[in-house]
Amino acid sequence: MIIAFINEKGDPAPWREVLTEEVPGLDFRVWPDEVTDPAEIDIAVVALPPPGLLKTFPNLKAILSMWAGVESMLLDPDLPRDVPIGRLVDRAMTRDMMHHAVHWVLHYHRDAHRYAEQQRHGKWKSIPYPEAAERRVGIMGLGALGGAAARALSDLGFTVAGWANNPKSIDDVEVFLGTDGLIPFLQRTDILVSLLPLTPATEGLINRTTLAHLPKGAFIINAGRGASVIDEDLIESLDSGHIARASLDVFHTEPLPADNPYWNHSKVDLTPHVASHTTPRTAGREVAQDIRLVAAGKKPRNLVKLDRGY
Ligand code: NDP
Repeated sequence: MIIAFINEKGDPAPWREVLTEEVPGLDFRVWPDEVTDPAEIDIAVVALPPPGLLKTFPNLKAILSMWAGVESMLLDPDLPRDVPIGRLVDRAMTRDMMHHAVHWVLHYHRDAHRYAEQQRHGKWKSIPYPEAAERRVGIMGLGALGGAAARALSDLGFTVAGWANNPKSIDDVEVFLGTDGLIPFLQRTDILVSLLPLTPATEGLINRTTLAHLPKGAFIINAGRGASVIDEDLIESLDSGHIARASLDVFHTEPLPADNPYWNHSKVDLTPHVASHTTPRTAGREVAQDIRLVAAGKKPRNLVKLDRGY
């Protein structure tokens, strides 16, 4: 198997180490310097491949993404649509995202933001909080990441529901589906966690209309993609007090421009796209597993659904 590593911003060294160790005999080539004949390449292992590049590899058996989100790659009009594309699902990454979701749900549930404010004013005052079971958490996106977050939050005693496209069964988690399920899902959600991929259907989904269906005082945690939110609408809802507070990890433009109003908004908690990340040591093992499957004539495991865009 000959693979091309295509990630202009990433260091190929740790990937070369883990992939060649995991797949004996693997010929690992770094694009562009080590790819002299594109026809030799069996698999492209990619993060943000330049548009038009993948179609220049005529014998690809698979494209494997080093990232969980594939929306940028799918914007390439010349993406070879007959080649199976595998997305990264990595247990370590899933665990990190679960920690992020749990952290912010607990932060808001137990009023950490209000105690920080009280401390600034030297104020000693206890704030009553509801039982976890009385706090209704709603996870948008019940895939690899959202499913794990839903299970963890349910295990912590919260009343958890999720929203997805296709039916699924997760113990003690109520599942709402598709367009019909969206409004009832929002209406029962006190803390909304978005772990949606960015697709034509999810772009701008968190907007004035959908936010209005959340109960007054709801919290938002977005670690999916920034473009799922209409920023002006969220800011308006925060300013009016309809939404109590938002934890935002992802943005339309990253890094977040210095003049973006989120930076100084008193009800926004910002993190710089760090909810979870690709670690070559663990992600490499997942990519290696898919390389072995492709070498055996099979398909990668987490296939991107081109018609759905994720
Ligand atoms: P998955 O593809 O496993 O899950 C996506 C989920 O969203 C699925 O449950 C899917 O439903 C649901 N979904 C997609 N579109 C819709 C829709 N229109 N209506 C209802 N449900 C929908 O992805 P992952 O869980 O692995 O990752 C999710 C996203 O998290 C990534 O695409 C990426 O954008 C983001 N991410 C963010 C990171 C960060 O550090 N902030 C790090 C890694 C990823 P169904 O199950 O029915 O198909």
